[in-house]
Amino acid sequence: MAILLTPARTARLFAAVAVQQQAFPSQQHPVPLPHCPACRRRPHQFILKADGTSLDFIGCGHAFALTREALLAGLEAQRAV
Ligand SMILES: [Zn+2]
Repeated sequence: MAILLTPARTARLFAAVAVQQQAFPSQQHPVPLPHCPACRRRPHQFILKADGTSLDFIGCGHAFALTREALLAGLEAQRAV
């Protein structure tokens, strides 16, 4: 069952992913991906569903449902990085 992510939590996650993607690959200490909010494990990868309604953490297998409000908060936070 998908867990609902709040807009604030989505914003933090998306911003952390944006920071991670901007890090130089050659950097000695690359920025890690953010923890899964449910189990605190670090995923190998995130998959945001094309319609923006869910975010899957590949590794621990948790899936989070995003409301439209949460998605917009996340995208705004990502642009602000
Ligand atoms: Zn998890």
